[in-house]
Amino acid sequence: MRITNVAATSVSVPLAEPFVISLGAVDTVDTVLVQVTTDEGLTGVGEGAGVGFVTGETPDTVLGAIDAFTPALIGQNPFAIEQVHRDMDRILVRNGAAKAAVDLALYDIMGKAVGLPLYQFLGGVNSVVETDQTISLGEPEAMAAKASSLAAKGYREIKVKAGSDDDLDRDAITLIRRAAPHAHLKVDANQGWTVPQALAMLAMYADHGVGAVEQPLPYWDIDGTAYVRARSPIPIMVDESCFTPHDASVIVRRQAADFINIKLMKCGGIYPALQINAIAQAAGVRCMLGCMLESRVAIAAGAHLVASRPNFVYADLDSFNDFDDSSVVAKAFDFDVPNIRLTDAPGIGVTLV
Ligand code: MG
Repeated sequence: MRITNVAATSVSVPLAEPFVISLGAVDTVDTVLVQVTTDEGLTGVGEGAGVGFVTGETPDTVLGAIDAFTPALIGQNPFAIEQVHRDMDRILVRNGAAKAAVDLALYDIMGKAVGLPLYQFLGGVNSVVETDQTISLGEPEAMAAKASSLAAKGYREIKVKAGSDDDLDRDAITLIRRAAPHAHLKVDANQGWTVPQALAMLAMYADHGVGAVEQPLPYWDIDGTAYVRARSPIPIMVDESCFTPHDASVIVRRQAADFINIKLMKCGGIYPALQINAIAQAAGVRCMLGCMLESRVAIAAGAHLVASRPNFVYADLDSFNDFDDSSVVAKAFDFDVPNIRLTDAPGIGVTLV
């Protein structure tokens, strides 16, 4: 089987409410969908959703990178995923969302070629993935009202954004804990703190029973993160500090994290995500699979990955609830709060409009 065509288009969908974190704010979902076709009539669907202030990508750079990869893809066997990643890495470093778009489409083709849903193709047996839902930065009262409504809908895991204002964070978690007393809470500081600030905030969050705190320090400060983790009453998760398998190896060697938040758009797709998860698992570090502002195409792919690897103990696959992607995605998975239920359709199991 050979790849015969690669077609990518950018899609822009307004968010129901702006998504605000300490690094910036976003009010539309700008993503790129790719379709890879083969000489055997199989088509694979992928998605590349970059975020400028995290991956350094825009829809235009994703489209440009996929263009740059295309000559190396045409004629290639879609099962040659190692070779495809080597080619893409040789053509462009970084550009994780663009690489993920290609990677997901090839895994979709592989699943379809063997007639298995992706989680089974990856060796998994479970088809249900529980997701959390994220509360973005806002007024503490509004954040607490959101927590209350999420808990009432049946979410057990709530992730709370933080890191822009300590007083606001303190008020927000106090009200959120009161509004959702039984929820398992995680907090994401998105690089917002210094070392002394992180130590004070972690002590405060421990009093509210927060289960993990994500990315307390700037992404480049691995030594600082290890220092904070050694003194933290709460498990530490890294996100922006870990893009690649190399990053993961540094993080585990320096004992900088209890959890790694892997995102397909940071690392370049399922193939490198499996490598990062294997490095983490071998070092006793557990993983969460997170997402950018992704449609149900990439969310479905992520859910298949989580379903295939028990070392993913958390899934933060919630972006599809923040906007309506039905103008581009016809069918993906079933969702009853808080569970994503994968179908047994082969591959990623997604149908585009
Ligand atoms: Mg994060």
